[in-house]
Amino acid sequence: MKQWSAVIRNPTGLHARPAWTLVDAAKRFAADIRIQHGNQSANGKSLISILALGVEHGAEITFLVNGVDENEASVALEKLIYEGLGEPMDMQNAAQPQKESSNSSNGTPAALAHQSSGAGREVRGTPAAPGVAIGRIFQLVPPQIQIDTASLGVDAEKARSQAAVAQAQTDLAALRDDLASRAAPSEAAIFDVHIEILHDPDVRSQVEACIATGQSAAAAWRNTLHEHATELKKISDPLLAERAADINDVSNRILRILSGQPITAPQLPNHPVIVVARDVTPSDMATLDRRRMIGICMADGGPMAHASILARALGIPAVVGSGDDVIALADGSMAILNGMEGSLIANPTRAQLSAAEQAQAKWQEQRAQAAALSHAPATTQDGHRVEIAANIGGIEDARGAAAAGAEGVGLLRTEFLFVDSPTEPSEQTQYEIYRDIVTAMGGAPVIARTLDIGGDKPVAYLDMSAEKNPLLGERGIRLCLNRPDLLRRQLRALMRAAAHGPLRIMFPMVAEIGEWRAVRAMAESVRVELGAPEVPLGIMIEVPSAALMADVLAREVDFFSIGTNDLTQYTLAMDRQHPVLAAQADALHPAVLRLIARTVEAAHAVGKWVGICGEAAADPQATPILVGLGVDELSVSPPSVSLVKAAIRAMNFAQAASIAGQALLCANAAEVRVLSK
Ligand code: PEP
Ligand code: MG
Repeated sequence: MKQWSAVIRNPTGLHARPAWTLVDAAKRFAADIRIQHGNQSANGKSLISILALGVEHGAEITFLVNGVDENEASVALEKLIYEGLGEPMDMQNAAQPQKESSNSSNGTPAALAHQSSGAGREVRGTPAAPGVAIGRIFQLVPPQIQIDTASLGVDAEKARSQAAVAQAQTDLAALRDDLASRAAPSEAAIFDVHIEILHDPDVRSQVEACIATGQSAAAAWRNTLHEHATELKKISDPLLAERAADINDVSNRILRILSGQPITAPQLPNHPVIVVARDVTPSDMATLDRRRMIGICMADGGPMAHASILARALGIPAVVGSGDDVIALADGSMAILNGMEGSLIANPTRAQLSAAEQAQAKWQEQRAQAAALSHAPATTQDGHRVEIAANIGGIEDARGAAAAGAEGVGLLRTEFLFVDSPTEPSEQTQYEIYRDIVTAMGGAPVIARTLDIGGDKPVAYLDMSAEKNPLLGERGIRLCLNRPDLLRRQLRALMRAAAHGPLRIMFPMVAEIGEWRAVRAMAESVRVELGAPEVPLGIMIEVPSAALMADVLAREVDFFSIGTNDLTQYTLAMDRQHPVLAAQADALHPAVLRLIARTVEAAHAVGKWVGICGEAAADPQATPILVGLGVDELSVSPPSVSLVKAAIRAMNFAQAASIAGQALLCANAAEVRVLSK
């Protein structure tokens, strides 16, 4: 048996989506996986039992892994936890609950305050999605579900339960796909969590046990899920407690199927309304008519409930945790909902209405300006232009990047294709995905990075031998050169996709010119074999030796892209995911900046361009220094595109260059950060 511990670094702890990622991975192994937190223990393959542990940010959990593949399972799970359980850094930041309104700063979530100033009645809750809505109240009352409690016999009820699960799974997958295609690809994963709850082994065995004791399938599901929701609500971490709403949503869905009540979207009046409800379920959020739902006010719920996450993704102003009084507000009365302040004013006065109209106009103008400028170029006040591209990991991201105003893709991490697949994706599968990504970018350049696995990113079917020091081992270009057929298939797929738009190819982890020459030769032979046109080829600068030899490499490559994440880890010899050291692995260390300066100088001397695709590109303190060092392109996550563009528009290049010059002379990263404040 393997026993090991890990610290959960996700800012919101093991909430639904990271827990789902963990369970999804755990289920791929035969070994029994148990997780201990304090004196509680959970089945590592049961989402519900993991959620019930209430694991918060910074908590240490212990894994007990027992079975034939315990080693592989431990390596994979440990890696997943170090990598943030599927939450990229930006997502993790985005997942922070929004600031509560001043009225709720007393520690109680969603403190309630009524102000009777003779004006309209104001109810205070917690801001959940920004924006101002003015319209009539519509009380959304959940339908009563009448369930059959009489059992038709154990076998019959088991069969009914299975059929209902299959139906619910189909409905949820359709909901997820519909939402993903409309507006919120990453938020659509909420419904994967619901599917997971349906298949949770602990839930299923409890339901079967209830059926075996003579309960109907409906009663078994209702009692089992009610019990789990009640347990979750007791957790002190409000974020985890909010997951009870997901269990209730799944419970309603399956009970409606079992009782033969059609699951239809709640009907809204045929004019815009502010929906008021005790709790709006994620299913309601995904199906309610968005043209008519202009705002949401919930008596219960918190800012990190899935309904709130969806409201933000869909751009619908929302206030949550407003307390019971909102339920008593008359249907059809006029109201103002302010999602920034977390307030709902019922029956507003004329003065309140005109103030709200002004606030609404201002908000809409700010949004419109930001949206309009997100597609405008980023030019400093003294006329220096920097290209802002996006880092992506799939087709949905590509669409998000194009919509966010990215001027191209600076880094397509192709690993997603290989890591998420049980076998190596075929050349044709790869080609189709690369082609779709290039097409989605509508003529903007896409830089695809060849497979960067090994080290911290193992892939089961590649049968990689365990290494003592994987980050210094066979990763990135080293692994591909040792498996030339794998790289050749990827290069063929990429070269074929290049016929559909401006695709560029870059190679990760180049430490030595011989590696570059070998992959260049292979790329050229693939190109000739396919009769494909020239494709610009570049390398990542993420190993110090490549930065130090940039003058030599620059003569041979078409471009450089600096991977500051790895360049920092290898320059400072600090594991970028080390729970203690990672915080000190700062890309603003002058040692790293000197390597960047040297790379830029070497490239520009021979007319080549340099991008940065590490996290530092979007760090508000690093952006001016990197621009000042002369990089031509910054590639950041799609949500950061407009922010980085705005930061560049606010800066003066001559000043940035002067600060960057001083930064190179600083003694450490802390001094650099003082400079760039
Ligand atoms: C980097 O190392 O900075 C980089 C962008 O590559 P990755 O984070 O995928 O290793
Ligand atoms: Mg890297």
